Amino acid sequence: MTFTLAFSALLLLNLGLKLWLAGRQMRHVAQHRSAVPADFESVIDLPTHQKAADYTLAKLRLGHWDMAIDAVLLLAWTLLGGLSLLDTMLMAWIGPGMLQQLALVLGFMLIGSVLNLPVSWYQTFKVEQQFGFNKMTMGLWISDLLKGAVVGLVLGLPLIWAVLFLMQIGGHYWWLMAWVLLVAYQLLVMWIAPTYIMPLFNKFQPLEDAQLKARVDQLMQRTGFQSDGFFVMDGSRRSAHSNAFFTGLGKQKRVVFFDTLLQQLNINEMEAVLAHELGHAKLNHIPKAMVRGFLVSLVGMAALGWLSTQVWFYTGLGVMPHLSSANDALALLLFLQVVPLLTFVTTPLRSARSRKHEFEADAFASQHANAADLRQALIKLYKDNASTLTPDPLYVTFYHSHPPATQRLARLTA
Ligand SMILES: [Zn+2]
Repeated sequence: MTFTLAFSALLLLNLGLKLWLAGRQMRHVAQHRSAVPADFESVIDLPTHQKAADYTLAKLRLGHWDMAIDAVLLLAWTLLGGLSLLDTMLMAWIGPGMLQQLALVLGFMLIGSVLNLPVSWYQTFKVEQQFGFNKMTMGLWISDLLKGAVVGLVLGLPLIWAVLFLMQIGGHYWWLMAWVLLVAYQLLVMWIAPTYIMPLFNKFQPLEDAQLKARVDQLMQRTGFQSDGFFVMDGSRRSAHSNAFFTGLGKQKRVVFFDTLLQQLNINEMEAVLAHELGHAKLNHIPKAMVRGFLVSLVGMAALGWLSTQVWFYTGLGVMPHLSSANDALALLLFLQVVPLLTFVTTPLRSARSRKHEFEADAFASQHANAADLRQALIKLYKDNASTLTPDPLYVTFYHSHPPATQRLARLTA
């Protein structure tokens, strides 16, 4: 009972906090819609600024639906007895055993994904479409969905099976073994993603532009990296938004440009953007984040190891544990429902660290490329992606992984 109350209070706190922050952001963006901020008057015109405001507001409005669906779904699965019902039905149909547990996890994920489809569809074909960003056809959207489901099953099913198996036979320290498995699995997926998974969704072609290639190569040598090839990805098949990224572990880096980025930026600006990305790599932002993630998941697995043996953990969340067969899948699913409620309140810590890393990568880029070029590139990207220049400061503190445009550009000018 106490646990049920604590869970309900946490759910309400989460929802209240999310709604309050979104409300603040909406008011702030709407209030600043009528004028371009002084620092940007010479580079961004009023229609562009207003488009960014409207786009931000449209995404926030859709976000309300997303929050509502998530909260209702969470309640339906737990306190309203949804998970218990699905479990009972599958038990009557399949009988106790590993197959029933796997079916429970799959059924749970399938129902959740299907219920989230309307928001995802609306996001792509209404919001992104309305602002001219969507390049996807309905056919591509469906084929992405099916491919994603197949990849998810092929990669996910063996992992779920292995975790459930360890829960069953691993004794008191199953969670430690499961954690080692999770870490190994995550590294494996990172390793095979660029060569085996990403090509299922996009085409990667070697960069043709010899001039740009030479510039990027020099930049990488200057900063102590070896390039494992430069590729152009057909991001424009799905969206007009642009990006560039690195893949590969260690010093060998494969550089991937979205074709949309190549259209938007000139060669100097490209170099500056890449220097920023190399800054992240040089300062080990990614491995550090991974190690932190692994430590957090170790704590999480230990908590799951303990919670899965506590009857109140099940009954408090609307589920009757079985007396004569395994409850491992139930424990896993309930745990995955509760954890986001706890980690949400720590979002500002992660956001603050990420914003600090962005400043560091900008400083690195100013050192190894030209700060003025990076400034130009950022302004173009803010414009082309319709990012708001006037976010609510508290919303930024809580959610934003990147510092606001005004602060970033001010530092690059200094
Ligand atoms: Zn960055």
